[in-house]
Amino acid sequence: MIRTHQLSRLYPMGDSVVRALDGVDLFIGRGEFVSVTGPSGSGKSTLMHLLGCLERPTSGTYEFEGRLVHRMTDRQLAAIRNRDIGFVFQTFNLINRTSALDNVAVPLIYGRKRNARAAARSALEKVGLGNRVRHNPGELSGGERQRVAIARAIVNNPGLIFADEPTGNLDSQTGEQIIDVFHSLHAGGVTIVLVTHEMEVAMQAQRIIRMKDGRIVEDRVMDDALRGELRQLGEQASGAATLGSRVG
Ligand code: ADP
Ligand code: MG
Repeated sequence: MIRTHQLSRLYPMGDSVVRALDGVDLFIGRGEFVSVTGPSGSGKSTLMHLLGCLERPTSGTYEFEGRLVHRMTDRQLAAIRNRDIGFVFQTFNLINRTSALDNVAVPLIYGRKRNARAAARSALEKVGLGNRVRHNPGELSGGERQRVAIARAIVNNPGLIFADEPTGNLDSQTGEQIIDVFHSLHAGGVTIVLVTHEMEVAMQAQRIIRMKDGRIVEDRVMDDALRGELRQLGEQASGAATLGSRVG
């Protein structure tokens, strides 16, 4: 589904240059559930933006289902984004004074699709919000808002979903419910790429990619040994955070 070769994104900053992504070779097959993890600033979001056709690389190649994305026009990129890819972000990016139903129908209205409302209702039912279609975002909990955002991401039935820190604004129990939604989409055949710096979330995937300084430093299939390592890393990180907050 996804194949990159030496994918790079540089940002000029005054006299120097930030290598946000620095020569990434990556293959992701149809039906995979992959998490991308790594410290803040390691290039996770940049990778997601490139793979999601939101941005073009500075150099390197990107093939999406055999099509050469790095050579596409803006219009071609937009067509792939609308048809084949769904996005979920940390901040839910919903329209406030509009019902859950209309929020979910937005991508369909842009696409001039008929039966937009029926498709939006069905997407909300898939994420367990069939009983909240008339609610505005302000009348929903954080977890429910994120589920509306997921319904919006899947309303066009894309084969691929990118989620960038989707549990970042949620407590851990609500976060687990969101991950369950991704599991059920995955079971339905959708390819999932989940960006997170939380180890407990990352280890839910079948494969984990670790990034540092714009490069992939580890790419492994999830197994019990790896789960053990990640749990330890997670505990160290939360220990450090507790220490940090005591000192701070
Ligand atoms: P992550 O998502 O892992 O926290 P990002 O992909 O957002 O990391 O950023 C990777 C690096 O690229 C960081 O050092 C960041 O400051 C830099 N960067 C990202 N976007 C831009 C931009 N638009 N302009 C300049 N630097 C950027
Ligand atoms: Mg990020």
